[in-house]
Amino acid sequence: MVSTANPAVEKRSMALGMRRGMAFHCPNCSQGKLYRKYLKVQDCPACGNENSRYPADDAPPYFTILIVGHLVVAPLLFLRWIWQAPTALVVGTTLPALLVLTLVFLPVVKGAVVGALWSLRPRDEVEEP
Ligand SMILES: [Zn+2]
Repeated sequence: MVSTANPAVEKRSMALGMRRGMAFHCPNCSQGKLYRKYLKVQDCPACGNENSRYPADDAPPYFTILIVGHLVVAPLLFLRWIWQAPTALVVGTTLPALLVLTLVFLPVVKGAVVGALWSLRPRDEVEEP
């Protein structure tokens, strides 16, 4: 049976797009790479989907700060023995942890945001012939 639905308006799965984006793959086909550089989104070399049209803007840093803040700051608040340790030790371990976790989570979160935006379709994508 041949589908008569217009492929331009077919429903896209947000979970699928986010999963593909989090794996640094094109949310449309999962074959091409999502990034050209560390955080530079590129158009898909496999299917040609214009991934750079999805405006992630400030959402990835916001969600990254939210996640990393909970992973690093929450233990600092709940584990009292940390506050009895020398300040240089706490600062010397916390700041590198914040840096590394931020750099690790940021492209993953940005991929998820791009995947979510792919599933929502920007208005100009739906209106194309
Ligand atoms: Zn693709």
